[in-house]
Amino acid sequence: MIRIAIDGPAGSGKSTMAKIIANKLKINYLDSGALYRIIGYYCVKNNIDLEDKKSIKDILPQIKIDLKDHKYFLNDEEISEQIRNAESGNYASMVAKVPEVREKINQILRTMSQEMSTVIDGRDIGTVVIPDAEIKIFLTASVEERAKRRYDELSEKGKKVDYKSILEQIIFRDKADSSRSIAPLKPAEEAIKINTTNMDIEEVTKKIIEIIKE
Ligand code: C5P
Repeated sequence: MIRIAIDGPAGSGKSTMAKIIANKLKINYLDSGALYRIIGYYCVKNNIDLEDKKSIKDILPQIKIDLKDHKYFLNDEEISEQIRNAESGNYASMVAKVPEVREKINQILRTMSQEMSTVIDGRDIGTVVIPDAEIKIFLTASVEERAKRRYDELSEKGKKVDYKSILEQIIFRDKADSSRSIAPLKPAEEAIKINTTNMDIEEVTKKIIEIIKE
C-alpha cells in the first residue's frame, strides 16, 4: 500500500502529474479539488450565498458524491465536465473555507484511499487529509507560468480564453487558498518541493518517480 500526496497551488501541474504517476504505477487517482468543485456547484445551483457559511453547512446532508471510473457523480448525476470551468474553481475556493465542507470531503478521501494504493492531489493532503502518507510532494511554479499553462490547456480544448483574466483568477485563488484560517495552502514539513517553472512534464515525472523509488 502506498499513498502519495501531491499538493500545490492552482495550475502548478498537480493533477497532470497525479494522473501520470497513477497510470505509471497502476494505482488509483483521487482529485480532491473536484469534490470542492462539486459542493460549490451544488450550492450555486441551489441559490446558496457562498459567503453564508451556515447555509452551506446546512445543505451538506443533501449532497452525495460518488466516484466511478474517474467520473464524478453528484446525487447520482454525472457532472465531471460541468465542474471543470474557471467559475467552478472560484466557487470551490469559497466553499473550501467552511470547516464542515472540509470535514465531509476529508472523510470521503480517507475512506477511498484506505482501500487501495492511491495518489491524491490537493492543497492539504500531506498536511491534514493524510498526514501519514508515504510520499509527500509539493509542486510550485511562478504565477505567470501557471496562468500560461491554464491558458494553453483551455485554448487547446477550443475554449475562448483571455490570459489576463486567467492570471487574475489564479491570483484570487492563491490568496483565498493561502490566507484561509482552516487548512491553508502550505507544504507539509517533510514534503519534497519541486519548482516546475522551467521544467516540462517529462522532467517532473522523472523527478517524482525518482523520489518514489528512493
Ligand atoms: O485543484 P482545484 O483547482 O480543482 O481546486 C479548486 C479549489 O478547491 C481550490 O482553489 C481550493 O480553494 C479548493 N481545494 C481545497 N483543498 C483541496 C483541494 C481543493 O481547499 N485539497
